[in-house]
Amino acid sequence: MSEKEVRLQVRNISKTFGITKALKDVSFDLYKGEIHALIGENGSGKSTLTNMLTGIYSMETGKFILDGEEVHPKDQVDANDHGISIIVQEQGTLDGLTVAENIFLGHEQRFIKGIIRNTGAMNKAANDLLKKYGFERIKANRMVDDYNFEDRKLVEIVKATYFEPKVVVVDETTTALSQEGREELYKHMRRIRDYGGTVIFISHDLDEVLNMSDTITILRDGDYIDTVDAKDVTSDDLKRLMVGREVTGNYYRSDYGEKVSDEVVLSAKNVSVPGLIDDINLDLHKGEILGIGGLSESGMHEVGKALFGASYDRTGEVVLGDGTHINDIPTAIRHSIAYTSKDRDNESVVMNQSIGDNITLPSLGKLTAFGPFISDRKKNAFANKYAKEISVKMVNINQFVSKLSGGNKQKVVLARWIGADSDILILDSPTRGIDIKVKQDIYQLMDSMRKQGKSVLMISEELMELIGMCDNILIMKDGKINGEVKRDPSVTENDLIAKMV
Ligand code: ADP
Ligand code: MG
Repeated sequence: MSEKEVRLQVRNISKTFGITKALKDVSFDLYKGEIHALIGENGSGKSTLTNMLTGIYSMETGKFILDGEEVHPKDQVDANDHGISIIVQEQGTLDGLTVAENIFLGHEQRFIKGIIRNTGAMNKAANDLLKKYGFERIKANRMVDDYNFEDRKLVEIVKATYFEPKVVVVDETTTALSQEGREELYKHMRRIRDYGGTVIFISHDLDEVLNMSDTITILRDGDYIDTVDAKDVTSDDLKRLMVGREVTGNYYRSDYGEKVSDEVVLSAKNVSVPGLIDDINLDLHKGEILGIGGLSESGMHEVGKALFGASYDRTGEVVLGDGTHINDIPTAIRHSIAYTSKDRDNESVVMNQSIGDNITLPSLGKLTAFGPFISDRKKNAFANKYAKEISVKMVNINQFVSKLSGGNKQKVVLARWIGADSDILILDSPTRGIDIKVKQDIYQLMDSMRKQGKSVLMISEELMELIGMCDNILIMKDGKINGEVKRDPSVTENDLIAKMV
């Protein structure tokens, strides 16, 4: 194998935003002719690093050394002049300019003689490029506004790569693209590698990262963690490096294409709550995990309350499979419906009671000994059984819930409803503020409940868990259901965001 030649040396780069240390003394090397992935959880500093390299953010401390010379791009055009370009996740072309003007933005001097801009020559050059890239359907003289997001990304690919740059950054661009658009981008990433260029590839899709890249650098919380050869690692290795802990087994559900039962266990018909939700209709099926996503204020949290009989001025109907109408909480609990609130501390757990009391709360009717008297022995045994079943970390069941961590409080809430043998679980933000290990436990619990034929309605602001766990996702906007996304491995966060805003 031929010796790799260094292209870019990242040296001691740090960057602070207010009190946030976005990057802490990051150093690593990138080589010529490689696709070098940069991965890390949200907020780990990937974009900050590449934005500094491409002149979008100013430098603070540290150096970028390109082909042996220190570079300090002061803006994107200056970066281009050094042979560095970027394709961003969001819209990277400018409205009000033609396709050609976007491609040559900042580099128009090529087409200017004296004071005259030769628009014809610029359009011709742009059309030639578009043709070379196979994007003939995009016309150089048309306004870029005339094209959709996907086509505008193709224009950006041309803009960022036509001059055979030394380093091209692709920052989470694929998330927003269809499979077809991704393939186009992949093709050009490989082309750049083939002429000896370096691609810095940022993506959340670890399979894509492993397929496309030669080398992978991991950032965590602004720290440089490691640089590895893609052929030496698995996606589990990468996850472990990203989160800094062992994450074994599946995180989310891994099945696709399973058919959901036709049996409806709960339906909402024209459910409204003045000022909060408007005419909600939905069916929850047996064995289904149905998701509700949206912005926090979209009304989605109220839907959970309304289905549990906990909304005061609700109109419309909430009906179970057997025809029972749910209009109040006691009826909901009697009919095997569980509910966990987003506001866990105020609405789900009773803080100043023991773990045991919290777990047995809805099941006391089953724990009587003589007449109406509760058997302490039965109660303790019951609480112990379910606390252990989902491994609540505790001294014993007499410990007050107020002393537990958020994740363990949530486990107590879930143990309560598992103990009550609920058939329908309405879980609002079940993993909010919970660490990754307990999250995984909760996901596995949801998956096993589904397999037992129980039905889960998960309301969540975390798009990835909706995508990872649900058979079907309803997206809410302004109090209404604004769209529906079916379970599929190709669903991205942007598919949901598009319906949320
Ligand atoms: P990544 O791209 O890995 O998701 P970023 O580089 O965007 O992460 O962010 C790293 C950290 O820096 C985050 O805590 C983020 O909130 C912060 N950050 C990034 N850009 C800015 C900015 N322009 N102003 C303030 N904070 C920022
Ligand atoms: Mg980013």
